[in-house]
Amino acid sequence: MRLVFLGPPGVGKGTQAEKVAGRYGVRKISTGDLLRDAVRNRTSLGVEAKTYMDQGQLVPDSVVIGLVRDKLEDPGCAKGFILDGFPRTVPQAEELGKVLEERGILLNRVINFQASHVEIVKRLSGRRSCPKCQATYHLTFAPSKRGAQCDRCGESLIQRSDDQPEAIETRLKVYEQQTAPLISFYETQNLLSRIESVGPIDSVYENVTKVLAAYDMA
Ligand code: ADP
Ligand code: ADP
Ligand code: ZN
Repeated sequence: MRLVFLGPPGVGKGTQAEKVAGRYGVRKISTGDLLRDAVRNRTSLGVEAKTYMDQGQLVPDSVVIGLVRDKLEDPGCAKGFILDGFPRTVPQAEELGKVLEERGILLNRVINFQASHVEIVKRLSGRRSCPKCQATYHLTFAPSKRGAQCDRCGESLIQRSDDQPEAIETRLKVYEQQTAPLISFYETQNLLSRIESVGPIDSVYENVTKVLAAYDMA
């Protein structure tokens, strides 16, 4: 199983990637999580990335490509992987193609998640995140059973600085300009499946598994 989950910020890619990775024993590779780890650990890469992330801009391609290249070498990816939030630009997608080609492997499918602008803004503005284990919640749609603490690890949940209204608008514009072109990029390669990311998380997940089954991955 070698998948890319594509779609605007807040559409639910990470939520679905987590469920699929858990169910099928494949690795979820989220560049957002990797970058936030680097920021927290104050590595030089993290320091460079932080200014872009806080403003809702994309981190330079060379930085994220390096991160993904490293992660794909992890033996944990042998059974497969889900790239969540990568690629986000055409050069990233081209570079990913080269990295996979070097290893003699191909992507099985790119799943494009879609939802309305209004729904996406609701999801992002109510998102709460665990700074320790990166679990994601939503104040009304997916609350933690422990209230303001993470169900999984007990840490206090936070609102990401880029989930504030101004950064949300920037990220949605950046998505339209730099990431949306990947839809036709992968459509041309006959790799794209589209999923309406609307309704409960479990029913979206059911639709994801239908796509996986249609391509012999479930
Ligand atoms: P979201 O969940 O809203 O889609 P992510 O957690 O995937 O956001 O990403 C958070 C931020 O990290 C992005 O706004 C961007 O600054 C940076 N980032 C994540 N992935 C990439 C990528 N593939 N290319 C460039 N920047 C990225
Ligand atoms: P992405 O990884 O695409 O940025 P997330 O998976 O982090 O998106 O989801 C964004 C927010 O929306 C989170 O707060 C999450 O709990 C919530 N969410 C995810 N899927 C759904 C859904 N189907 N319905 C309602 N809320 C959802
Ligand atoms: Zn946690």
